Amino acid sequence: MRLLVGTGNPGKVREFRELLDGLPVELVTPADIGLDMEVEETGDTLEENALIKAQAYANAGGILTLADDSGLFVDALDGAPGVISARYGAPDARTDEDRVQLLLRNLVDVPDEHRGAAFRCVIVIAEPNEDTVRIAKGELRGIIRQAPRGTNGFGYDPIFVVPEYGKTVAELDSETKNALSHRGRAASIARDIIADMAAAPKTEGNS
Ligand code: IMP
Repeated sequence: MRLLVGTGNPGKVREFRELLDGLPVELVTPADIGLDMEVEETGDTLEENALIKAQAYANAGGILTLADDSGLFVDALDGAPGVISARYGAPDARTDEDRVQLLLRNLVDVPDEHRGAAFRCVIVIAEPNEDTVRIAKGELRGIIRQAPRGTNGFGYDPIFVVPEYGKTVAELDSETKNALSHRGRAASIARDIIADMAAAPKTEGNS
């Protein structure tokens, strides 16, 4: 069974390869199957956007598809940047580093005890031309530092401290990040869903 990972983000593809390793499915990217498309994230929530992406890629690719939507929700900013984490500060902010700097500027007067935040991830697994989908969610709580530290990962990892480790996510190795991250937690639920689907492939009349 093939599973399309519906994203153009190489950081996410790399993490999903690790997170879904060992499942009886062949992971393929949009480029692997000749898909060159951008899906507009028009939803107001992670759930809506993950659904939009999963169904768009599933319908275009014609195979079982997984897509996620994720973001950083900062308590002191009423949940910003949230669903727009990837586009925070656009068009001026263009890179992960620009977005990190903008977030730090917006938190400049916020003391450590009020710098709580959460990474959240919603994964949707969709089949081509099917309204019914499967959903898995995960969250990681932490604290936003005053300055970036660490070089692993991507996005806001260098400013997000995991209190239990006293390190930013960008200072954790990928195995540790995968074990505790929002995406790792959602993916472990998704693994069970995909394993069930692979064990009982759909037959006519069985949806
Ligand atoms: P999207 O899910 O493609 O909309 O992108 C979510 C955005 O949230 C990413 O581009 C990052 O800016 C941020 N983000 C999501 N997951 C992570 C993570 O694991 N580490 C750091 N930043 C993340």
